[in-house]
Amino acid sequence: MNKILFGVLLFAGCCLKSYAALPFEQLLYKGRAIPFYGVSQDATQQQLLDAVKRSNLSERMAGMTNATLHLKSDIGVGFESCGSVNAFYSRQRHAVVICSELIETIGKLAVADQDVMGKLPREQFAKVLDGLIWGIYFHELGHALVDTNRISITGREEDVADQFAVWFALNYVDLSRQPILMPTIWFWREMSKARNLPTMSQDQLRHFLSDEHSLDEQRIYNLACWAYGSNTPAGNGAARYARLPEQRAQRCAGEYASVDRGMMTHFRKFFRLRPLTAR
Ligand SMILES: [Zn+2]
Repeated sequence: MNKILFGVLLFAGCCLKSYAALPFEQLLYKGRAIPFYGVSQDATQQQLLDAVKRSNLSERMAGMTNATLHLKSDIGVGFESCGSVNAFYSRQRHAVVICSELIETIGKLAVADQDVMGKLPREQFAKVLDGLIWGIYFHELGHALVDTNRISITGREEDVADQFAVWFALNYVDLSRQPILMPTIWFWREMSKARNLPTMSQDQLRHFLSDEHSLDEQRIYNLACWAYGSNTPAGNGAARYARLPEQRAQRCAGEYASVDRGMMTHFRKFFRLRPLTAR
């Protein structure tokens, strides 16, 4: 577990170079991302929260958000014990919450995975866990933006949040220094191993298939496809790691162009910095 705690976190690497011109409307956006850490009665969860706090992760997530995005109103960004393995954006609280139970689960999965994670040098292991948490954060940030900035979407918001997370990572993070895509694929793959459709009861199956998220396997291929379509080294690496089938890969440039167009149409006015592809 020490290895895990060590892994939380080093990353502050985003591209803070060129500021976009400020349309007048943006001067009205006074919202800020505000970091927080919860307190838990459970000793293990409190230990995890302390470790995250020592890494200033909430502060760095809030800092990156404030440096790159305009928010119409404040959002909380932080970690707390939720009593379940989860990460979510709360519309009631206007807060992105990453549960310490999720950090604990990620750590356990990573330590148990001797085939991939166990073979990584300590620093690389830490980077992968960092990247995964940032990837989770970007997904929740997508939800937060849609709600806080009243961004119109059609289709499933969960897929839009996944699109935002991939697109934001590709455009605002130096993925050669801080991997995010591969760790996310690794995590969804590990999560998918934890269930077995043929052995599920009818009730379990109904619950599972009515969930608002795409299935883990679909999320893996979607992420890999959109990343591959960006025609970047990180995108190519993600497609290889996910073993994206050729049949889907052929359509990915078009899919990424569509995601990019959507982001540049509906999210653009909220960017403080121009995305990489537009520089
Ligand atoms: Zn979501």
